[in-house]
Amino acid sequence: MFWKKFVITLFIFILILLYRAYVVFAPDKTIFEPCSSTNDNHSLEFNEQRLRTFQTLLQFQTISYEENNQNFTELKRCRNFIKQHYDDLITKYSKFVQLHDIAEYSLLYEIRGKNSNLKPFLLSSHLDVVPTGNLSRWKYPPFDGHSDGQLIYARGTLDDKGNVFTMMEALKEYLNVHGQPSRTFYIGLTHDEEVARAGAMGIAKYLSKQSFGRDGQFEFVLDEGTIILEEAFPTLHNPIAIIGVAEKGYMTIEYSISLPPGHSSMPTAPTAIGILAHAVDKLESTLQPSQFGRGPEINLLHSITPYLKFPLRLALSNIWLFGYLIQLALAQKPGTNALQRTTSAVTLISGGQTENILPTSASATINHRIHTADSCKKILENNRRIINDDRIVPRVKTCTEPSPSSPYGKDVYSYRIIEQTIRQTFDKDRQPIIVVPGLMLGATDSRSYTKLSKNLYRFSPFIYHHDDLDRLHGDNERMTHRDVQRGLNFYFHLIVNNQLDHIPESKLNTEL
Ligand SMILES: [Zn+2]
Repeated sequence: MFWKKFVITLFIFILILLYRAYVVFAPDKTIFEPCSSTNDNHSLEFNEQRLRTFQTLLQFQTISYEENNQNFTELKRCRNFIKQHYDDLITKYSKFVQLHDIAEYSLLYEIRGKNSNLKPFLLSSHLDVVPTGNLSRWKYPPFDGHSDGQLIYARGTLDDKGNVFTMMEALKEYLNVHGQPSRTFYIGLTHDEEVARAGAMGIAKYLSKQSFGRDGQFEFVLDEGTIILEEAFPTLHNPIAIIGVAEKGYMTIEYSISLPPGHSSMPTAPTAIGILAHAVDKLESTLQPSQFGRGPEINLLHSITPYLKFPLRLALSNIWLFGYLIQLALAQKPGTNALQRTTSAVTLISGGQTENILPTSASATINHRIHTADSCKKILENNRRIINDDRIVPRVKTCTEPSPSSPYGKDVYSYRIIEQTIRQTFDKDRQPIIVVPGLMLGATDSRSYTKLSKNLYRFSPFIYHHDDLDRLHGDNERMTHRDVQRGLNFYFHLIVNNQLDHIPESKLNTEL
């Protein structure tokens, strides 16, 4: 009798798992439907002339070291080059195109639309780059903009001059092909995204003074951000385009300790350095709690689940049962681990005065990227418990809370337009692309634009291959010619698609 009941229960249990995997998480058939581009078959080529422009842009050494410590001479040259190179847009279309200088080195292009009832949108990217690191590890000098015919090597290709260049070229093409748009839009090029926010704050301030810039009047803001991944999940062969709908917070804390001095010939242990080292070890070896299921990562997994193969599909469609195992699997790689929790990185340490005196003080700096379900206060408290030593005193150097999540899905016009434009651009020459909402792990300028719109998205239209994530802020940063071409077409079509006066919600999927 018991065994009979057991077998029936087990059978029902397996049925539920399979039902969820194959019925609840059935593939969305429409997702792979090609976009019937009725009004827009235009295509941009990444030709010789464009390559030379991109290379020139990459050759400016617009390095940001820290706040107020940037290569301002090069930033000025870079800004002047852009102004001059795209000057004909201002002269030719002076009736509706204007350029605003912002915060001395940043630029804001304003393209006024014919229909003032349509809410404007803002595209944002940045001109500054991080330092190059050890030059000997670079295959080609990082500011040569060397092209081998397939790849362009330079600091700033992926982050973020690729976006700057493709946005500006798309704008030029759009104006030359279509003239004045219906919808007003802006292109913001900031100069200090890597170290500060003066450029983005300046743009936000300027726009907030316009009649439509207040109270979230922008349709959407699109900033640099999450990217397209290939072969990112086992058994999934479709590329995944991740639109960042939220962004992690950022907090830096300095921990320090002070003790009375002593002679190193009669040492007492532990010293200030020893105590601090112990705390650093605890901070590094104790993970912040997993927030799996409480942020956008759950939507990302749900969106790809229907396209996975058994048994991964079974597991991801039954997170209620396999959630803990999935957490463990995500923790295996730094990239996926960062999706589910606040990360901790000890980045600076100092201590001691001279070689024959016991150290009286020591300090270490820890940088956290805060998951959307955590907060600065919560992490500070977690650290206090982890260190568990009152002699070590924290000082919060910077704290930016994680962003709220922007709306996404079929019913959100601006999300849908970006999603469709991604498919329109990337479906042509590869496997159908899956577009999912996701979490941006780094911090972007979009933090400064929260008052303009609740629809803040972060996306860079480039495909990242296996080791490209290491090249970001690392050595041998590079971009393929094909990616540049796709970027050109993505921004061009994004501008075109946003000019439609009205799109019935139900037709969004096929009418672009
Ligand atoms: Zn960037």
